Amino acid sequence: MAHEPVCVTRPVAHPTLTVDLEAVAANTRRLAARASGELMAVVKADGFGHGAADVARTALGAGATALGVTTLAEALALREVGLDAPVLSWLNPVDEDWRAARDAGVEIAVPSLEHLDAVARTAPGTRVHLHLDTGMARDGAAPEEWARLCRAARRAERRHAVSVVGLMGHLATADTPGDPRTAMGRARFAWGSGVARVCGLRPRQRHLAATSATLTDPASHHTTVRVGAGLVGIDPTGTTELAGALTLTAPLVQVRHVRAGTGVGYDHTWTAPAATRLGLLPLGYGDGLPRAASGRAEVLVAGVRRPLVGRVSMDTAVVDLGDLPLAAGTTVTVLGPGHEGEPTAGEWARWSGTIAHEVVTGLGARGGRTERVVRPAVLRSLA
Ligand SMILES: *Cc1c(COP(=O)(O)O)cnc(C)c1O
Repeated sequence: MAHEPVCVTRPVAHPTLTVDLEAVAANTRRLAARASGELMAVVKADGFGHGAADVARTALGAGATALGVTTLAEALALREVGLDAPVLSWLNPVDEDWRAARDAGVEIAVPSLEHLDAVARTAPGTRVHLHLDTGMARDGAAPEEWARLCRAARRAERRHAVSVVGLMGHLATADTPGDPRTAMGRARFAWGSGVARVCGLRPRQRHLAATSATLTDPASHHTTVRVGAGLVGIDPTGTTELAGALTLTAPLVQVRHVRAGTGVGYDHTWTAPAATRLGLLPLGYGDGLPRAASGRAEVLVAGVRRPLVGRVSMDTAVVDLGDLPLAAGTTVTVLGPGHEGEPTAGEWARWSGTIAHEVVTGLGARGGRTERVVRPAVLRSLA
């Protein structure tokens, strides 16, 4: 079953971040079923904070056929844990250790002539994906440089210096289904594919869509979609129900009664309007809990939502428990998939003026003080 209750075998004594790989498997199956072609699982930033190797292995077991990451170091880390699926790395300095990439069988996105020359010169035989800027003005080759890049890549291919196995682009506005700029990005990618063809290139893969376009823009799927956020339950388009894969819980470490008029936390941004009980959570922005959510955030405690009050500090946050008769040691759910009424990553994002991607990546990255528990995907899904 997708959402069996967490099996607690001992009292949870520390802040705990639970990663639910069955949710990742279910999301992967769902997204792979939507894709016209293959699905590349994007596990950059440590799998959006969920653990790159765990997310990668789970996604590959649930329908993904390749992996995508930002840097070569991230790609090599996947090789080190024994993952031998195709891996693409798309953002590297021009003087990266291309030989290490080639020797580990890592495919490299090439966004410029300088990158192409460096790869061809230092690591002949590398499999590359030519990266066209399809409207981000961020990474990828500018359209003015595209034909030159394609011609140079074809020359390099003829002398076996590189093998062009893919073309890639990235859409700027796919989170808003129907945005006309997405059609322009698609058109630019089609143009770029035509130019590559005229230059004699015959890459097996062409990929443009990430999570949002995978869910809402089939015309951009081509041979492969690159999906990151969706694997961990984030749908930026708000059109599809995906399963959140992170749960953050923490025990109350202290409970106190305060009188009406008591100021709480730095700068007393909240003052108790009436006598109440306050619970202390051992989590703060040092653990990735967004400080910007101060004054808006809620948590789930004893089955009900209660507000965090005052500022989120580096190591602590304070819950107004009202008249709930709770003692220190009570477990509070700070964030989760939402099945029990707990706040989701999307709610935390709204409270802090950001996107769910940043919330989950931050929680995962700063997990030094947070115990991590990984719930495996059920075997059925890995069959
Ligand atoms: C992060 C990223 C993706 C994945 O995007 P999601 O919206 O998280 O699915 C795909 N391609 C590139 C180039 C990226 O940087």
